[in-house]
Amino acid sequence: AKSEGRGTCRFFDPAIGAEIRERRQLEHDLRHAVARAELELVYQPQARVETGAVIGFEALLRWRHPERGTVSPAVFIPIAEESGAILAIGEWALREACREAATWTGSASVAVNVSAVQIHGPHFARLVHEVLFQSGLEPRRLEIEVTETALIRDPARALHTLRSIKALGVTVAMDDFGTGYSSLSNLRTFPFDKIKIDGSFVRSVHSNAQAAAIVRSVLGLGRGLGLPVVAEGVETAEELRFLAQECCDAAQGYLIGRPAPIGQFAQHTHGGGRV
Ligand code: C2E
Ligand code: CA
Ligand code: CA
Ligand code: CA
Repeated sequence: AKSEGRGTCRFFDPAIGAEIRERRQLEHDLRHAVARAELELVYQPQARVETGAVIGFEALLRWRHPERGTVSPAVFIPIAEESGAILAIGEWALREACREAATWTGSASVAVNVSAVQIHGPHFARLVHEVLFQSGLEPRRLEIEVTETALIRDPARALHTLRSIKALGVTVAMDDFGTGYSSLSNLRTFPFDKIKIDGSFVRSVHSNAQAAAIVRSVLGLGRGLGLPVVAEGVETAEELRFLAQECCDAAQGYLIGRPAPIGQFAQHTHGGGRV
C-alpha cells in the first residue's frame, strides 16, 4: 500500500494492474496495426426481404494480432476511440471498403461504420470526398453507419458533418436503432436516410412480445418517415418470416450470411452486372 498524504491510501491490486498493462499493450500495438497491415475487412451481406436479392455489404473490421490471434472489434474499437488511433484505423477502413466496392461489377452498396471521433473531427467530409474521388466509387453506393451516441458530443458539429456527407450523395444510416437514449428525437434532428434496427430486438421477436411490438413500431416509423429499414442480427427463418409479414425492407444477419472475406461473395459482387 502506498500512502498519498493523510487519510488517502491506495492499494496496489495486482489484478487491476494486469488489466491496465494489458490495455496499454493493446493500445500500443493498435497504433502500429495499420502500418503492419494487421487489419482487414470482412463483409456481411444485406438482402432485400421480399426477393432475397443481395443489395449491399457491411464492412466490419478484424484485427489479426501477431500473438493474440483475432481481436474482436468490440474490444479494440473502444480502445482505439480513447487513444485516438481510430482516426487512422477508420480512414484505412473507409479507403479499403471503397477501393474494394469500386471493383464490383454490380450495384451493391458498401456500408462503413464511423465513430464519434471521426464524425467530430474537422476533416471527415473532406476525407469521404477524397476517398470517393480516388476510388471512383459512385457516392450513392457508399453508406455511412453512425450510432446516435456518436452524434451527441457536439450535435451541431455532427449535423454539419452529416449534411456535408449527404451533399456528396452518400447515404447515412442510423445504426443500432433503439439502443440509444433518444432515438426518436435524434431521428428528427439528424438527416438519416435509413434505419438499422438493432439485432437485440430482432432476435427476441419470437420470445418477447415487447420486442415484436418494438420492431413493428420501428417499421411503421420508417414507413411514416419514408426511410427504408434494415433489420440486423437475423438468425432464423422465423425471424425473416416475421420481417416479411411486417414489410421490412432489408435483412442482415447470420441467416443471410456471416461476415467473411469478400471473395466468398463473388457471385454477388462479380455476377455480370446483376446483384
Ligand atoms: P455493428 O455495427 O452493430 O455490427 C454488427 C455486429 O453484429 C457485427 O459484430 C456482426 O458480426 C454481428 N452480427 C451480424 N449478424 C449477426 C447475427 O445474426 N447474430 C449475432 N449474434 N451477431 C451478428 P462485429 O463484427 O464483432 O462488430 C462489432 C461492432 O464493432 C460493430 O457493431 C461496430 O459497432 C464495430 N465496428 C466494426 N467494424 C468497425 C469499423 O470499421 N469502424 C467502427 N467505428 N466500428 C466498427
Ligand atoms: Ca454497423
Ligand atoms: Ca448495428
Ligand atoms: Ca453495434
